[in-house]
Amino acid sequence: MSNNQSKSHQQLGQELDLFTFSDLVGSGLPLFTPKGTVLKRVLQRYIEELLEKEGFDFVWIPHIAKKDLYEKSGHLEKFANDMFPVMETKGRKYILKPANCPHHIQIFARRPISYREMPQRYAESTTQYRSEQSGELEGLARVLGLTLDDSHIFARPDQVKEEFRKAIEINKQMLKDFKLEYWIRLSAWDPNNKDKYLGNEAVWEKMQNLMAEILTQSGINFKKVEGEAAFYGPKMDLIVTDSLGKEWQLSTIQVDFNLPERFDLFYVDEKGEHQRPIMLHRATFGSYERFLAMIIEHFQGAFPTWLSPVQVQIIPITDRNNEYAQNVLEQLKSANLRVELDDRSETMQAKIRDAQNQKVPYMIVIGDREVEAQKIAVRNRAGEDLGAMNIDEFINKIQEEIKGKS
Ligand SMILES: [Zn+2]
Repeated sequence: MSNNQSKSHQQLGQELDLFTFSDLVGSGLPLFTPKGTVLKRVLQRYIEELLEKEGFDFVWIPHIAKKDLYEKSGHLEKFANDMFPVMETKGRKYILKPANCPHHIQIFARRPISYREMPQRYAESTTQYRSEQSGELEGLARVLGLTLDDSHIFARPDQVKEEFRKAIEINKQMLKDFKLEYWIRLSAWDPNNKDKYLGNEAVWEKMQNLMAEILTQSGINFKKVEGEAAFYGPKMDLIVTDSLGKEWQLSTIQVDFNLPERFDLFYVDEKGEHQRPIMLHRATFGSYERFLAMIIEHFQGAFPTWLSPVQVQIIPITDRNNEYAQNVLEQLKSANLRVELDDRSETMQAKIRDAQNQKVPYMIVIGDREVEAQKIAVRNRAGEDLGAMNIDEFINKIQEEIKGKS
């Protein structure tokens, strides 16, 4: 597909009825329609299943916290400009969360955790808020509320390598399932300017070497860039190239030497002594909003069947065929397929064209012949006629396709 025919996610989002903006709600605050929400929920289920398999536990936090939390975390001191201002109610001061880490830290700190219970991996899809100039907002790609598939890992030093490996494997799996090309930027410190960074030199070097080792072992294309690390730790940034050749920086695996110190976090070692855990921040998609913007453009709205908000459109040719069409609809729904019945009194050609414009992967056309034979005539969105099938045969075929994410 050439670039000049391609559409932006804003344009596709409107044509496919995935999300909308309202002047009263405000720019940078997307509203997801039922179809867009299907897509978002498929992503969330997908990632939560993957994380669950890798031993992550799920947590849940509110969207505000006392001002004190962000004083202690340092967010107020360093990032106040990007945060919504403090709000005061009934004599107490709260902040809309600019990050989820301080909340998750408070879950880790709720009781002394033994070395045997480490690592602790807390995952959650949750929204954090960022104040931006309205001119900087751009569809789903830059928003005021970012929903992250966020997670925080608290590990012993001897466990960090395995946690890096796990995080990389999860990302690799995701990138394969979404058919995305990528490379990783290993953002290291500037060795000539070590004073700029928190934490000790040996640990920095060790973490950076571990990251490079894991990336090499995983056969991932990466580039080490000195001076790109945050002051509080090295990180791996996932840079994805979509089908149109556009690069997107998605998720990050970030080591943090700062927050465990600030919050005096510890686990209890085999001698009963307090030890500082290594904290990692990681996400897979990064923000759902930005990831959605990216995949909408990457697939140009023609999502693979497992992601499509509507997987099958049923098109009866005349009203006589509606009863059988309804019957087919029920059977496909019981097979957990996302299916719609187009029983408007339009011509078959118009209904097929509309389904194709909506990029629905499969169309089932039902006329007198199909009713008579108790079969269905199947077409795909590319316009190919796949012929007559039994309903079971079609269900098996599409379920295989969904399972394989092809
Ligand atoms: Zn974090």
